[in-house]
Amino acid sequence: MTDVPSIFASKVFNDETMQERLPKEAYDALKETIESGSPLDISVANIVANAMKDWAIEHGCTHYTHWFQPMTGVTAEKHDSFISPSGNGKVIMEFSGKELIKGEPDASSFPSGGIRATFEARGYTTWDPTSYAFIKGNTLCIPTAFMSYTGDILDKKTPLLRSMDRINQESIRILKLFNKDVKRVNATVGPEQEYFLIDKKIYDQRKDLKYTGRTLFGARPPKGQQLEDHYFGALKSRVADFMQELDEELWELGIYSKTEHNEVAPAQHELAPVFTTVNIAADHNQLTMEAMKRIALKHDMVCLLHEKPFAGVNGSGKHNNWSLSTNTGENLFKPGKKPEENTQFLLFLAAVIKGIDEYQDLLRLSVATAGNDHRLGGDEAPPAIISMFIGDDLQAVVDAIIEGTDYESHGKILMGTGAQVLPKIKRDTTDRNRTSPFAFTGNKFEFRSLGSALNISCPNIMLNTILAEELSQFSDILEKSSNFESDCRKLIRKTFKEHQRILFNGDGYTDEWVEEAKQRGLLNLKSTPEALSHYIVDKNLKLFEKQRIFTNREVYARYEILLENYINVVNIEALTMLDMAKKDILPSVSAFTAELANTIQAKAAVSANISTKAEVDLLERLSIMLEKFSETIDKLEENLIQAANYKDDIQKHAEFYCDYVLASMQDLRKISDEMEMSVSSKYWPYPSYGQMLFSIQ
Ligand code: ADP
Ligand code: MG
Repeated sequence: MTDVPSIFASKVFNDETMQERLPKEAYDALKETIESGSPLDISVANIVANAMKDWAIEHGCTHYTHWFQPMTGVTAEKHDSFISPSGNGKVIMEFSGKELIKGEPDASSFPSGGIRATFEARGYTTWDPTSYAFIKGNTLCIPTAFMSYTGDILDKKTPLLRSMDRINQESIRILKLFNKDVKRVNATVGPEQEYFLIDKKIYDQRKDLKYTGRTLFGARPPKGQQLEDHYFGALKSRVADFMQELDEELWELGIYSKTEHNEVAPAQHELAPVFTTVNIAADHNQLTMEAMKRIALKHDMVCLLHEKPFAGVNGSGKHNNWSLSTNTGENLFKPGKKPEENTQFLLFLAAVIKGIDEYQDLLRLSVATAGNDHRLGGDEAPPAIISMFIGDDLQAVVDAIIEGTDYESHGKILMGTGAQVLPKIKRDTTDRNRTSPFAFTGNKFEFRSLGSALNISCPNIMLNTILAEELSQFSDILEKSSNFESDCRKLIRKTFKEHQRILFNGDGYTDEWVEEAKQRGLLNLKSTPEALSHYIVDKNLKLFEKQRIFTNREVYARYEILLENYINVVNIEALTMLDMAKKDILPSVSAFTAELANTIQAKAAVSANISTKAEVDLLERLSIMLEKFSETIDKLEENLIQAANYKDDIQKHAEFYCDYVLASMQDLRKISDEMEMSVSSKYWPYPSYGQMLFSIQ
């Protein structure tokens, strides 16, 4: 049995290790940097680097890398060894403060949205001392931010750190008004991660999974998730072994992997860590996804992180549980026993409500990817409409404040289970609403629209920035007030009143909600190109500039990178489909129909009395479908050619892919899936949905 406490964080250069290995002055100086963000002196950096190197070498490291998160969505690393020539043909192991603090990877191969011309290939990575260095294999990994030579940011970590500063400052400003002396407010996040595991041998036979991460063809299996027998079901031993190895690796990295269980769909699972400060949660989530993929392979499985690997089966998401906590241990979203009297909580709630209403588009676009478009609004994940669920009790508080009436609390109800041996449990005052994109869950908000593959930085940048903006507006008003309590109440009431349209406690999956949301004037940004077009609207540019998260140039760059990525993803999918359709599916169906024709002839040659009706019917049907299939291949090819006409306008280009290329892809799939249902499995060129989803025994 693994001794968890002894391995936990054994591969992390964390506070405990630093305290152990650094001289007191160096430790104090570094701690000051971590806690207050003050710049680090190079002499201290030298001492830290040396201690880190010694520690890493003791753990078998030969290399170090600046580990960063460029706009590709995956993490990047360039490995350098510690060796340095010592003059006599020998080497010594060295690592300087300068090497710790700054790296210069060639930036030209990372997306920059036109910010960095290739001739200015220089880019910098800089150490984020608030996220601990860690060991992966034989390499010391140093979490870093990434920017261009000109100082424009090219990664996901820097804006997240900036947004953390902003939410920190603005929360402290508000808390001062409540006479609270707080030094630091951190956004905390616990991301629940869903994923699929399938057998590697089966995976290898599917070009679509290999090239695009999702199945582009495939008829529904007779058994899907109808029986709901997979959710929380007993783990298969291969999966259990995988999870154990994963947990151990994550624990060594100091990641609080806590909950693992089967999910709703066959072959689907979930991992939830205990929450932590958001930039660390983001680093940890990237590491978790990376470890999942790597460790699955060791067990002859493939981990699929795509948002929708299988049509007709639930896709995978990520729930971003987000809250704010102070260095004094207070959770700012904790309503307490009497939320109706908790002015501070109500003010923060009002800021969230106003922020989500005013910046629905930013939340929506922060989760917009080609893959996630297949999930949102598909009756398995929240709709593309952003709304907020606060539960019946809190809603009643809000309503009472708006109406100016008294609120009567119902308290928690004691629930009996009917069985004497079981203890009575307190029922939560409100049931869960799984259909809401943004739900208050007791002392945190759960943003549920994230796709499983997403880097969680972007949605959290939005949440922190939006809230910082709203809090700053509140402070501007309240700092001038001579009657704080009364003015604060008035402000809360006014805010609830003006922004209550964003609150929705009903079923978000229904058509009625789509209609009602429209009446309320809420946005319904169905596709990624539509959502991304809001990145560059005036109010959002102003917000980012005012909160010093992105310059306008950086916003435009991000907008372009994300659209470009969308176009590339759909383009690769279309090309993969054409490859599969032309090289495998069409020839297979044709071969099967040839066999049918031969059988019909052979039977007829024996005797005219032998019925060939079944074969003839099937042959006729399949031949008609195959003709249509071939026509749709042509149509898709034509669309791809036409798409090139929009190359000069990236927004239109992406929209064309969304409206036309994807539509032909869907048509092509539909015919193929129909044919799959009628073609002998001996002839079908790919493993079926049934084989993929039930591949692990
Ligand atoms: P669910 O019922 O949706 O699975 P849980 O209550 O198990 O939700 O918690 C889900 C996630 O929320 C976990 O990662 C947990 O650590 C995280 N969480 C709990 N409290 C907070 C908080 N204050 N801030 C951020 N995340 C939190
Ligand atoms: Mg959840």
